[in-house]
Amino acid sequence: MPNAQQDQAERRHLVAGNWKMNGTAALLRNMISNLLDESDLPANTDVLLLPPFPYLTLAESLIQDQPLLLGAQNLSAHEQGAHTGEVSAAMLAEVGCEYVLVGHSERRELHGEDDDLVAEKFVVAQRAGLRPILCMGESAKQRKNGLTEVIVKRQLQAVLDRAGVAALGNAVLAYEPLWAIGTGKTASPEQAQEVHAYIRQTIAAVDARIAGQVQILYGGSVKADNAADLFAQTDIDGGLIGGASLQVEQFLGICRAG
Ligand code: PEP
Repeated sequence: MPNAQQDQAERRHLVAGNWKMNGTAALLRNMISNLLDESDLPANTDVLLLPPFPYLTLAESLIQDQPLLLGAQNLSAHEQGAHTGEVSAAMLAEVGCEYVLVGHSERRELHGEDDDLVAEKFVVAQRAGLRPILCMGESAKQRKNGLTEVIVKRQLQAVLDRAGVAALGNAVLAYEPLWAIGTGKTASPEQAQEVHAYIRQTIAAVDARIAGQVQILYGGSVKADNAADLFAQTDIDGGLIGGASLQVEQFLGICRAG
């Protein structure tokens, strides 16, 4: 089997539910109990929940040793100290998180996080033993102006410069075009695959082994009825799911397509 096919076959899929600032403790209990009861999840697929900070401890206690992963949506770039309202990487690790999002477009656009800060958070997360999920993606205007690859490469390069390519061995990437997030306008499987392949080739130019191993998720209006076509693409290793991760049947459907 050629290397690229072998790498694809060996990469596990990941379906991650980013609740954003939504949900309740009751929904969390319901979601976790349904996910743990689900018997039709593909053997090659892991499921990750990213609830708001206040629900992490509850989620951890409900999951315990069962096969469901837990992560957070954000972290501070500071390790500790006088940073009112912030949450450190070590705190997230202590309450059972294994993953954390960095560079989600809502953090970049609405909270002023630039490439440097995102790269810093990536490093701080890994230092605490967390696996960062680096989100990247272009706006509608940038795509229209032919800048998709320029933007995604700039966002990736900032992390490569700060952390080094080997750091991607303990990270996940997510391509999330801004025009597809929360809009109902999903990228077509071909559009998404094109950018995923570009990301993988960009990494391969530096380190082919890491490029073959790293999971690249697609995010942007993934639903139960479009997930399978997206996840079947060569370089798409699962999804980062926003709105649909708050609906039990939708999210289960996406996980089954994993
Ligand atoms: C997201 O916010 O990461 C996301 C992909 O949202 P949605 O699925 O709602 O488009």
